[in-house]
Amino acid sequence: MQGYPIWLPKGNAIRERLMNFLRQEQEKRGYKMVTTPHIGKKDLYVTSGHFAKYGEDSFQPIHTPREGEEFLLKPMNCPHHCEIYGFKPRSYRDLPLRIAEFGTVYRYEQSGELHGLSRVRGFTQDDAHIFCTQDQLKAEFLNVLDLTIAVLGKMGFHDFTAQISLRDPSKPEKYIGSDENWHAAESAIIEATAEVGMKTVQELGEAAFYGPKLDFMVRDAIGRSWQLGTIQVDYNLPERFELEYVGADNAPHRPVMIHRAPFGSMERFMSILIEHTAGKFPLWLTPEQYAILPISENTTTMLTNWSES
Ligand code: ZN
Repeated sequence: MQGYPIWLPKGNAIRERLMNFLRQEQEKRGYKMVTTPHIGKKDLYVTSGHFAKYGEDSFQPIHTPREGEEFLLKPMNCPHHCEIYGFKPRSYRDLPLRIAEFGTVYRYEQSGELHGLSRVRGFTQDDAHIFCTQDQLKAEFLNVLDLTIAVLGKMGFHDFTAQISLRDPSKPEKYIGSDENWHAAESAIIEATAEVGMKTVQELGEAAFYGPKLDFMVRDAIGRSWQLGTIQVDYNLPERFELEYVGADNAPHRPVMIHRAPFGSMERFMSILIEHTAGKFPLWLTPEQYAILPISENTTTMLTNWSES
């Protein structure tokens, strides 16, 4: 079935190794793993605004006639992570809170848009959301940059450019969040990339209405460019879910949220990794790391023939 990938044992062995590797790197950097359901109440995605924006692209709601409830296959993990943040009162001492999940999401992509492993209808994001104070934004950005560079570097990607999407300063009405916060968030991203010595390109007017973002543009072994590892600042979801923390001043404040996924999704990353390595994976990822061949005169002949073919 096109668009619904099935992982066979050897592919799945690679997927597990990638996930374990990322899990360890995230643990080192203070992330906590969580698991959220494959379906969620429609109301949750109405609150988040995803239903209005992506409703037609997600699968249609499932009705439960007796209870009168409506559910959707989960199109995004973010609303669930906002629920995790909001399930108990938070203090500034709880922040930054870094919540990570290998979360499988479902989106009803048009059949003409489906493409190999890179555009599918059910996929697993290496997702995480960081909730922090405005003052912690730069340090958190540096933490995410460090993780993304370490993870992609281990896969043999070393040639990065960061594309930084900023707001159009002539149209402040297009964006939510205060001028002051936008300025601070954009400066945090620019300073963080400069500190790690990344090449950057700034695109004015390319930011989402809810925050600036950074995309990793990665050049592979034969010079092709791929977009991997988006880091998105978000002032909108904390507002919509009315997330708060009690500050050192004893007053309520809104946290800032960062969305990030170094691989993007396991499926899309796998397709890029196959292209990048031409199937010759690094040894630690290879499902068959060695083969034992009995040596006899026949084997020698066989190997000679094989190496000549
Ligand atoms: Zn998100």
